[in-house]
Amino acid sequence: MNEQLNNDLQKIDSLLETIRVQGLEFLHQLPDRPTSSKYTKATNEILNEEGIGGLNALQQFNQTFEQAMIGSAGPRYWGFVTGGTTPASIMGDWLASIYDQNTQATKGQGDISAMIEVETIRLLLDLFRLPKDFLGGFVTGATMSNFTCLGVARQWIGKQLGKDFAKEGITQTIHILSAVPHSSVIKSLSMLGIGSNSVIKVNVVDGNRESIDIEDLKLKIKSLHGQPFILISSGGTVNTVDFDDFRSIMKLKDEFDFWWHIDAAFGAFAACSPAHQHVLDGWEHADSITVDCHKWLNVPYDNAVFFIKEKHKILQTETFQNSNAPYLGDPLENFSYLNFLPENSRRLRALPVWFTLIAYGKTGYQYIVENSIEMAKTLGNFIETNDYFELLSPVRLNNVCFTLRGEENQHKVSDFLTQLNATAKVFMTPTVYNGKKGIRAAFVNWRTTKEDVALVIDEMINIISR
Ligand SMILES: *Cc1c(COP(=O)(O)O)cnc(C)c1O
Repeated sequence: MNEQLNNDLQKIDSLLETIRVQGLEFLHQLPDRPTSSKYTKATNEILNEEGIGGLNALQQFNQTFEQAMIGSAGPRYWGFVTGGTTPASIMGDWLASIYDQNTQATKGQGDISAMIEVETIRLLLDLFRLPKDFLGGFVTGATMSNFTCLGVARQWIGKQLGKDFAKEGITQTIHILSAVPHSSVIKSLSMLGIGSNSVIKVNVVDGNRESIDIEDLKLKIKSLHGQPFILISSGGTVNTVDFDDFRSIMKLKDEFDFWWHIDAAFGAFAACSPAHQHVLDGWEHADSITVDCHKWLNVPYDNAVFFIKEKHKILQTETFQNSNAPYLGDPLENFSYLNFLPENSRRLRALPVWFTLIAYGKTGYQYIVENSIEMAKTLGNFIETNDYFELLSPVRLNNVCFTLRGEENQHKVSDFLTQLNATAKVFMTPTVYNGKKGIRAAFVNWRTTKEDVALVIDEMINIISR
């Protein structure tokens, strides 16, 4: 065996013990870890001949990169929609690397990992109070989940037109209706060859909302004169966490024939809170749903799921089938994820999710979700009652979208955010909402406390009083 490999094999106990100790040190100081770093370094482009072994590699990593590892998994990283990692999810994630299973088939391939994935999907459906007529699988993020769902939607459109787009390629325009699609939806349409220009924008309802206007939706549907279309609706927009009216959309399904996709990357978690789950009423009638796990479920990157109605399993297999052999029989008979989603070989991404679900259960997730919402409301209350700030929209769930009060201060918004993020005690992201420059703080981290919110408010006041 190669000398370095052999040395490391002999030392594997102490190597992994060293990592365990270093990892724990990081987790313990996570709340105080800077949330941004200005550190950069010149890129090394020369690979050493002989290798230096795992321990020296760790030393080199610690010298060159470790200091710039930011506390994005910590309690005051409110940029984008960034989750942390529960203890049990790290347990599952470490084991997923160690077991290193290639998760594909539920039988006949000698391992059980795909069955763990199927079970985890069932547990998630239970967490989200969704019916069991959805099949699902794990992908890397909500972007790939949207891609997967819309890939099957594309095949459904073809079927309505008597075409097999998976085989023939797209030969006709595919009509997409949506009000406030996430940027990754647009990206997916581009990757799928549907084209990002195919989106017909539907109006939102009046009153500072991002929810689709059902009357306008009906008009836009009628203008398609019976042609099949895909409706992409929002289960939580990123600026104001608004939801489309799923009950009304559900009723439209009786009248019109369309594929209904919901991007509920983080909004799906409203289902965990009895006080908030009504925003999802009717979503169980969608054809496909996107949910991120590395956001509000608080498992490590990269982790998301898709749910697609079981009745579409043939379309799904037509879209993702890996073999060129003509499709035979029921795809669930000898089920393999190989023919069910974009990737072929894949890690046991379900394991961190399985661990965290089993460890904390429905009550644990109700706590995480309701705590996040409470923290958002706390920051929202401060902003609403402070002379220097104003909310751009009411705090509906877990996101605070705000700006500096007064039109005359619009030009100061970016500078304020730069100064706030430079404290490295908190991180928020810029946005534009209703033509105004704003700032978003999204709460999904399980470790965020009232003290964290108070600390950030102090920093905000400090900057304003400079
Ligand atoms: C975050 C997000 C996405 C994209 O998710 P990734 O995990 O970054 O791929 C898509 N839709 C919504 C609503 C999101 O919040």
